[in-house]
Amino acid sequence: MTHRRIPPTSFGPDGTSTGSRRDDENGDTRAGGDGDASADRDDGRSERAKREPMTVRPLRDRRYVVETDGGTYVVALDAGTCSCPDHEIRGERCKHLRRVAIEVTEGRLPAPDERVGVCAVCGVETFVPLTASGPRLCERHGFERGDAVHDRETGKLLVVTRVTERRADEYRTDEGRPIDEYPTNAAYGAHEPVVEAVYAESLGPAHGIDDARRYGFPASRLVPIDAGRDR
Ligand SMILES: [Zn+2]
Ligand SMILES: [Zn+2]
Repeated sequence: MTHRRIPPTSFGPDGTSTGSRRDDENGDTRAGGDGDASADRDDGRSERAKREPMTVRPLRDRRYVVETDGGTYVVALDAGTCSCPDHEIRGERCKHLRRVAIEVTEGRLPAPDERVGVCAVCGVETFVPLTASGPRLCERHGFERGDAVHDRETGKLLVVTRVTERRADEYRTDEGRPIDEYPTNAAYGAHEPVVEAVYAESLGPAHGIDDARRYGFPASRLVPIDAGRDR
């Protein structure tokens, strides 16, 4: 399965991030052994990294386990290290490291600072930041601030102000009641993230979305009015 990731993450075939996200995270991204970049002799490793059967699984500590016919190794992509002899003894950027980089770049594995999240509306898997908490929405079911939507229950037009990280059974209204307990929300998942929105009718030239009173809705109760989007 291929996951979409925004913004795209890219790891070069040598396991080095080609994006800018981690560039200054820790000055030492290259493990010892081959002090200069020109020591990156390929010797067919890139080809083997692509073709050889390997099973890669993310661990929960930013590293990956790579199972091969020849053994099982642990790769730390952001440190550029692998526990195999090729890397540990000869200091080469081995095929395991390269394979993990390829799978991350192609969206088959989460990057070291990501984990797999599941959309609360449709169950599709997406990659989300490791530190993100709360329910998630996929690209198709997510909202942007300023999106015009209508309420499935009343048909009224609203404008989204934000997607919260709280579930419908956690988010409380001013009355102190979780929004999933309201009868009008009975048809929507208590596990869905709450989306805050303001009624379009409450907006005016001198009354923007930050001035209007906000209301919380289970995510799937709001539908974008953009007809091009098929929900
Ligand atoms: Zn290796
Ligand atoms: Zn979804």
